[in-house]
Amino acid sequence: MAKEIRVAQPIGSVRRAGWRLGSIAGIELSIDYSWLLIFALVTFSLAQQLAGGGATELGIRVWLAAAAVSIVFFASILLHELGHSLTAQRLGIRVRSITLFLFGGVAELASEARRPRDEILVAVAGPLVSVSLGLIFLGLAGGLGAEGSLLGAGLAWLGRINLLLATFNAVPGFPLDGGRVLRGILWAISGDFTRATRVAGACGAIFAWLLIAMGLLAAVLGGQLVGGIWFVLIGWFLLSAARASVGQEALQRALADIRVRDTLVPVAGSLLSGSESVAEVLETLVLRQGRRTFFVVDPDGHLRGLVTLRELARTPADARSQTPVAQVMVPEERLATASPTQSGQWALARMVELGVNQLPVVSEGRVVGAVTREALLGVVRAHLLLGQETGARRGTPR
Ligand SMILES: [Zn+2]
Repeated sequence: MAKEIRVAQPIGSVRRAGWRLGSIAGIELSIDYSWLLIFALVTFSLAQQLAGGGATELGIRVWLAAAAVSIVFFASILLHELGHSLTAQRLGIRVRSITLFLFGGVAELASEARRPRDEILVAVAGPLVSVSLGLIFLGLAGGLGAEGSLLGAGLAWLGRINLLLATFNAVPGFPLDGGRVLRGILWAISGDFTRATRVAGACGAIFAWLLIAMGLLAAVLGGQLVGGIWFVLIGWFLLSAARASVGQEALQRALADIRVRDTLVPVAGSLLSGSESVAEVLETLVLRQGRRTFFVVDPDGHLRGLVTLRELARTPADARSQTPVAQVMVPEERLATASPTQSGQWALARMVELGVNQLPVVSEGRVVGAVTREALLGVVRAHLLLGQETGARRGTPR
């Protein structure tokens, strides 16, 4: 049995290794290497089933049919994910990628839904696609009147597995689709997104433990070792996904409470006038003090540009003593900056989007410090450690 989840991943994109399939509507589609294992397992068990139905012997024809049906099955999962993703995009939520992997599919959304209604619509779209596919495949199998044939058996299996996929995902435990609907409903009723996530996540954890218990029972008492272990693995995966989602929501909430000015990292030792040579900066500031980022400012403190170790190192070694840093800096107009009053959530999202570790913080044109991923995460860790005390204050509607 395959399942799927969706993740909003604003903290840091983890690129999985795999094959790129292409893209649809700006969404990158790819297959993780772990998918090969599940493809082999599904093809293997499907071949046994198709041959076991008495329709035919386990020959090359059956193997090819089983492989073809497996591929259509995974295309079905992809369509389920596209159902979520295209609905999300229509509602203004950007979708980065869809990846097929060991436990099904993952669509990576750039952010969470802004309203309960959007959350519910995006969640429902996937299972709706699966139910439609299931009915179409069953209809084809019945319409062809070919239940005894290889084609008919394959179509019937696709119909059943798509309905099963929809049913499994309809279970009201976060982060399954049903759990997202539950969260949307709770969110709409209470106006409290954090508490809705926590309750839906707790339901998801209960369901995950049920799967693990059922898997253990099936493996130990029922003698169904492979199926049992598979249930345990899916349960364990769901459990960690439920915990991660709830943890991430708490983290986002903590970040939203922080202002950039609260985590300001001083930059006094990293200010340059621009006339220093690359060699000078490398020798005195980089190699002796370990600094990596420098701000080039006017005498009155206005930001002119930014130089990192990357720009310094890119300067050819024989030209370093004659090249002023102003010549290699990234000029101010091409720089992303933050203002002291912006939220930590905004700053981190911006850094992730740009693939940088820090932003200069500018107030009235003057550099007053920097905001870094490290400093923000340090503050968040402290918030989460003290979460019990501050939890009540964060439980406000948004
Ligand atoms: Zn789904």
